Amino acid sequence: MTSMTALNATGESIAREEAWGAHNYHPLDLVIAHAEGAWVTDVEGRRYLDCLSAYSAVNQGHCHPRILATLVEQASRVTLTSRAFRNEQLGAFCEELATLCGMEMVLPMNTGAEAVETAIKAARRWGYMRKNIPQDAATIIAFDNNFHGRTTTIVGFSSEPSYRAHFGPFAPGFVLVPFGDLAAVRAAMTSNTCAVLIEPIQCEAGVLIPPDGFLTDLAALCRERNVLLIADEIQTGLGRTGNMFACDHEGVQPDMYVLGKALSGGFYPVSAVVSSRDVLGVFGPGSHGSTFGGNPLGCAVARTALRVLDDEHLVERSAVLGAWLLAEVRTIQHPSIVAVRGRGLMVAIELSEQARPYCELLKERGVLCKETHDFVIRLSPPLVVREADLAWAVEQLRGVFND
Ligand SMILES: *Cc1c(COP(=O)(O)O)cnc(C)c1O
Repeated sequence: MTSMTALNATGESIAREEAWGAHNYHPLDLVIAHAEGAWVTDVEGRRYLDCLSAYSAVNQGHCHPRILATLVEQASRVTLTSRAFRNEQLGAFCEELATLCGMEMVLPMNTGAEAVETAIKAARRWGYMRKNIPQDAATIIAFDNNFHGRTTTIVGFSSEPSYRAHFGPFAPGFVLVPFGDLAAVRAAMTSNTCAVLIEPIQCEAGVLIPPDGFLTDLAALCRERNVLLIADEIQTGLGRTGNMFACDHEGVQPDMYVLGKALSGGFYPVSAVVSSRDVLGVFGPGSHGSTFGGNPLGCAVARTALRVLDDEHLVERSAVLGAWLLAEVRTIQHPSIVAVRGRGLMVAIELSEQARPYCELLKERGVLCKETHDFVIRLSPPLVVREADLAWAVEQLRGVFND
């Protein structure tokens, strides 16, 4: 950009980001300056209905006033103690989150990928200390098309070439099987298997829902073979799919929940592994940690974010509005629509052509969606979205497909 080029606020902001920021994303070109509830406003003053919710990190809606008040209040008292000392928020956070999950212990971290790494470490230690797997022989079964984050260990067991290319060498000890294929899981299990790691719905792969009964059968198989079932509910958890957890659709209690994203309502990175004393008890002092994990600001924010889910009945809203949205989207007729599927306020439209141009057209009409894996449009608005706004978004969707 030169000083001779006249750019509006949007163009200037984008030019700076392109010049100075690494290009590891391909965002839609709007520059958000303000947000409230389900709506965002760009630097030109245009308003958009957010149908991505920061990948379900803002289930409670943008800038929720109660979470904001907690953030400000706690930030004015103490933000970070490190775990070298104790803070008055950590114990309450762990108790409240463990109780919500029907579990016994919590290990707090910051980002989702860190919590997945923590679950992997816990599962391996459990394998060596409790199951007597020979040293360095533990394996974890994961699924084709998984998304568990971006660390080198995690992308090492991804099946997506763009996540992996030129990042090796990768950590050994992972086996991939087709999603939803119980026989393949059984065949992959050995006496050295310590865990199965699953997203109960594969969101980033395009909202892939396993066959009915699969999670129930998988949980039974894991129990029978003394293998831990780890549910990565970072995106599906905390109300997104119309239940508190996606595992609840089949009444399944995993051995470990991995949570993140909406755990803080979008204010602050807070993630956690939630499990039993038997599993998280494998960690002793010095074996694992994080400077920011369990900090009082994050814990206070997360406690309020969880209370908002309950007080505003957001899980029920997700179930009711999601069922309505799915039925409405299914009435849209277009030759490129291959499939429509969803659970709660997570609805996917799979196309036989690129989804990106449709997302661009939706943006022009004031609806923000992001394509998932080229061919899928995902609709996942904040769970606080007003019914009339959701109905308006469906009309914009209809308009895009009818033009
Ligand atoms: C977003 C996500 C992650 C990674 O979380 P980050 O906070 O981006 O590290 C892991 N698993 C699932 C299912 C996710 O959706």
